[in-house]
Parts: sequence; C-alpha cells; structure tokens
Amino acid sequence: MRIDIISVLPELLESPLGHSIIKRAQTKGLVVINLHHLRDYSNDKHRTVDDYAFGPDAGMVLKVEPIFKAMSKLKEECEYDEVIYTSPDGEPLTQKLCNHLSTKKNILILCGHYKGVDHRVREHLVTREISIGDYVLSGGELAAAVIVDSIVRLVPGVLSDETSALTDSFQDDLLAPPVYTRPAEFNGWKVPEILLSGNFGEIAKWQEEQAYQRTKLLRPDLLKDE
Ligand code: SAH
Repeated sequence: MRIDIISVLPELLESPLGHSIIKRAQTKGLVVINLHHLRDYSNDKHRTVDDYAFGPDAGMVLKVEPIFKAMSKLKEECEYDEVIYTSPDGEPLTQKLCNHLSTKKNILILCGHYKGVDHRVREHLVTREISIGDYVLSGGELAAAVIVDSIVRLVPGVLSDETSALTDSFQDDLLAPPVYTRPAEFNGWKVPEILLSGNFGEIAKWQEEQAYQRTKLLRPDLLKDE
C-alpha cells in the first residue's frame, strides 16, 4: 500500500507515523507513506498557499492551484484508488470504512487548514471526504494520522498476531471484552476465575457474553440491527 499525504504542516505527521506499528509496517515494506509539503507546489517565491476567503467572513482558505499542482504531479507517479479530503462535514470514519480502505493499493490524503480548502478542490479533485468526529480541529493532519493508523494496522502482515485486529472493538459490531494480565490478584482485585481455567471453549463463551453485555450497556446503538 502506498499513502501520500499533502499538508501545510507535514512535521505534525512525522511522530504519529514514525513509531510503533506504523513504523514497523513501513520497515517491513508493507506500506510506503510519503509526506508532501503543499508549499513546495506554490507558484510564488513566498511559497504562498492560502488567500482570503471571498465574502465577508474572516479567515484564510487553501488555494486551488497548489493543490491541483501537487495532486497532478503525484498522479503521474501512480493511480490513486481514493483521494481523501479530511473534513468535519465528511463521512464519519468507522471501522467498516477502515476495513474497506485497508484493501486499497494507493491512497492520497489532503489535509485542510485555516477555514478549509477552496471548494472547487472538493468538487473536482477528491473522491471521498472523511471526518474523524463531530468537532473541529485546527488542521487535517491529526485526522490524517488517525485515518492512516486505523487502516495501516489492518493491512495483512502489519500486526504480528494477525487475528488480533479481528477481536478488536467494532469488527463485528461489538465492543471488545475486557482483558487482564498477571498478576492474577493485585491489591485484593482478582482476575475473573474463568480466565485462569485453561478451558479455551469456556473462555471464548465468556468473552462473547462480556462483549455483548458491554455493547448493550455502553453502545446499544451498535446492536440496533439485531
Ligand atoms: N471551516 C471548516 C473547518 C476548518 S478546520 C468547517 O467549519 O467545516 C481546518 C481543517 O481541519 C479542515 O479543513 C479539515 O481538513 C481539518 N478538520 C477539522 N476538523 C476535522 C474533523 N473533525 N475531521 C477531519 N478533518 C478535520
């Protein structure tokens, strides 16, 4: 999988994408992530990429030309399955969408900033707009980091125990069951007896029941299709 990210602040993405599982995915050659500075595609010597919004409202808007130029250049290198714009009014990022995106070969992500991007970018250059939640961030970089993290860990081979993503929350519309580790007792607080029994069949039944009960209690909306 190849992921290209266009941003006015690519530095913000270096740390979230440079450690742990996402770093290993890149080291193993399973994913290539390229950060691109939008200012490198500016047409003027001041590397300007934004301008005042038309109309009475205050605020700067990312211009269409540098974005078009950056995307055109990248599209010469590969064909993108998705060109994503991060936006609070986009489609909500869900595990289902992450599963879908994790099967793609080439993804391009555009991070907005200031008041957003010139709307013509959204009308003509992107295939999908994704929101990471009903709140407004200062820029799309953190949203892009969330999108990349949540899809890269689903790429086959990235997680060392490949089945572990399948037992995570939301994979089957259920929250994950609780997990515990040694010691079996701390401060008088005990790990549920069943987990120490060695009976994997009974443990699996207990986990299923816990997942169902926690979902019913914490996120009953996930069970609405039952
Ligand atoms: N004026 C816009 C918000 C701009 S915030 C509005 O009211 O809808 C600046 C940039 O941050 C956006 O262009 C977008 O790329 C990013 N961003 C902000 N909140 C986001 C969210 N919840 N999900 C994804 N991207 C977001």
